[in-house]
Formats: sequence, structure tokens, C-alpha cells
Amino acid sequence: MFAVKAMPVNDPSHGFCRDCLGLQRGTGPRCHACGSPRLLRHAELYKLHLAHIDCDAFYAAVEKRDNPDLKDKPVIIGGGKRGVVSTACYIARIHGVRSAMPMFKALEACPEAVVVKPDMEKYVRVGREVRAMMQALTPLVEPISIDEAFLDLDGTERLHGLPPALVLARFAAAVEKEIGITVSAGLSYCKFLAKIASDFRKPRGFAVIGEAEAVGFLAQQPVTMIWGVGKAFAATLEHDGIRSIGQLQRMDRGDLMRRYGTMGSRLYHLSRGQDDRQVSPEHEAKSVSAETTFDTDLGTSADLVPVLRALSEKVSARLKKAGIAGRTVVLKLKTQDFKTKTRNRQLADPTRLADRIFQTGMQLLARETDGTKYRLLGIGVSDLSDDGRADPPDLVDVQSRKRALAEGAIDVLRGKFGRQAVETGYTFGKGRNTRPPEPLDD
Ligand SMILES: [Mg+2]
Repeated sequence: MFAVKAMPVNDPSHGFCRDCLGLQRGTGPRCHACGSPRLLRHAELYKLHLAHIDCDAFYAAVEKRDNPDLKDKPVIIGGGKRGVVSTACYIARIHGVRSAMPMFKALEACPEAVVVKPDMEKYVRVGREVRAMMQALTPLVEPISIDEAFLDLDGTERLHGLPPALVLARFAAAVEKEIGITVSAGLSYCKFLAKIASDFRKPRGFAVIGEAEAVGFLAQQPVTMIWGVGKAFAATLEHDGIRSIGQLQRMDRGDLMRRYGTMGSRLYHLSRGQDDRQVSPEHEAKSVSAETTFDTDLGTSADLVPVLRALSEKVSARLKKAGIAGRTVVLKLKTQDFKTKTRNRQLADPTRLADRIFQTGMQLLARETDGTKYRLLGIGVSDLSDDGRADPPDLVDVQSRKRALAEGAIDVLRGKFGRQAVETGYTFGKGRNTRPPEPLDD
């Protein structure tokens, strides 16, 4: 069911039961105390403190929790006739349904599936509850999406009276009991391997990758397991005859850097299980963006510009709400044949203004409106910081200053009377061809 075949070697002399947390001696298949088969054993179990926690089929799990009729049915979260699957529950996955699969394909694979429209507000609310429980374990929680985060539990043993491994098992049980959904945990000595581990035994999984086994384990895995190696880059590596991480382990750093630039350096280190990235709680989001899949493909500025405007406003609203700003504007387009283009431009100062995001997006979009038809348009900002230094008065461009002032006034009105109270010229009467973005989740 999952790409990972090889499991880390377990040391039979160390372990505990994930259900009753009872310590285990010997090698029996079931817990001495409660009889559960969910035992965790590993030689480095009590040494490791870097964790990755990921909710299982999160959106689907929340819907099943709230509607018991769905419990034993295949459930797909998604919508729209040209939409994609946001989340498929594990029953739907057995039928071959996957995240990001076009909806019509998903329903071909599993015609009996129950399709539920995503309720993002609810998922955000539940995600926050899970996060609050994580933050009770350690201040070092780095969320990477609505339902997953890295946790550094180093130095928390005295606080909890338990080593990190047991704290995590207790946490997983508490989430099931108090929130009514399940999580999977990965425990290792670095972020890269903690994230891989959390994916091992989903759902309700708990896997450990220790230092001693890291290189040997990675050697057998495909290059796509490396953070940052997507389909396109994997194809480049494949062209060069490189498929496994083991092959990367036999190449020297200079060679990898000559071939692949900074990515070469990443390949060198990660293939050897070397990852010194810290868990940094202050950088919650790496970027803020919004995107839309069209019902019919669009190619002209007349069609695309209003969508860009609406999405820029959405991004701006999120930035303002979070009190952050971004310095790099990123435009994303997906062509009819599913090729993704991203174009970005760095600004002189961080911005949170819809107009600045939109104007920059327009410049990037102008070069891409060459008759090509697109099925998706997205806009966002990265290089995030707090908004203290965002959007200084622009003495050169008086017009942009005026627009910033006008935008402030619009925000005030919308705050008082709601979003629909003020329509800008670009979005008025448009937008029927668009629908809200459908985030993906595993
Ligand atoms: Mg998840």
C-alpha cells in the first residue's frame, strides 16, 4: 500500500506497549499487561527526540467522526466536476483513490464512494485543537500544514516524567480519545527521517528510525523519498541513471554539486541521513497562497485578470489576519496538459497589500498569456516576515501609495460589513467560473 518496503531493524530488548504504555521485557508478540499487539521496540527508542506527527486522512477522519454513517464507507473529500481529491479515507484508498487524483478518475475507481465537500473552517478548528495538544508537550512545535508538525522533545523528559517515545504514544492515544481522529508518529534524530518514519505505518502508525540504521535503510529507498525531489527532478536523476538513494551515497559531493547545484549538496547530505535543520516554531508558514481550478480552461487576460485579482485579495486578507507579510510574489499556472509553471519576483520590501501582490502578479502573468490555455491559476507570497517593515510609503510611485490608502479603507468597510460589501472593479460580476482552492491532505 505504501512505497516504503524495508523497515528499520528493531532491537527486541527495548520496548513498550502503545496502548497501555506498559514496558515490555523479552520478545513476545503481545503486551504482558493488556494483550495488545501494538508493541514498539527499538534499540534507540529512548535516545531519540525529534518527532513528526501527521493526522491520518485528516479531512475524511473529521467527517467520519461527525457523521457515524460514513464510518465503514469509502469517503472522498473533494468536489466540483473537474475538481481533484483533497483526501480519501483508507477504505477509498484500498480502491485506488489517491489525493490530487481528478475527481472523475476517483469515482471511476470507486463508484460507491461518498463525496463530501470540504469544510475548511471545521478542519482548521480541529487542526488547532490538535496543535494545542502538541504545544502542551513542547514549545518546539513547527507546523508544516493544517494537520502535521515537527516536534522537538529534547529536554522534556523531566517535565513529563517520560522519555519522548512514550510521550508521543500517550499523545496519540489522547488525540483519539479527546478529538476523535487518529495520528501517525515518526521518531528519529532529524527532521528528514522523522517525517519519513511517520509515513511508514499509517494509519495509527508509530515508526522509529535510529542513527545506526539510517544509512543502510536509506540505501534501499527511491530518490523520490528525498525532500525536494519531485516528479520533474526525479526524471532528471533517472535520465542520469540514478534511482536509489544508495546510488547517491556512492557519489561525492563535488560531483553532485557540479551536476545539480545547491540541490546536489542537499542530495549528498540527506542521502547520508545528515539533516541539521532545527525545529523552528516561529516559521509557521513558508508561504501564503490561494489558487483556483477553472471549470473550463482559460487563456485570455480578460478571463484571467479578475481571477488573479480575487486570489490576490484572498492572500492579502490571510496575511493581514496573521500579521505577516511576504517579499516574494509567486504566480502559479497549470496548463491543459497538467504542466505546472511557477514564476516569481522579489519586491524591495515585504508586502501584505492585495494591490501590490496583484500588480506584481499581473507583470508575471503578462508574459504567460500567449494563447496558452490554463486549468489552474494561483498567486502567493513567500519570504515571510512579520508585517512591521511591510509596505513603506512609496515616494516614487504616488499612485501605488493612493491605492494602498484606498485598500486600507476597503479593509475597514469589509471588516464592518463583510467581504461582499466592497467589490473592486476587477472582481465585480466575475468569479462564477472559479471556486475556492482545494488543499491537499494525506
Ligand atoms: Mg495528514
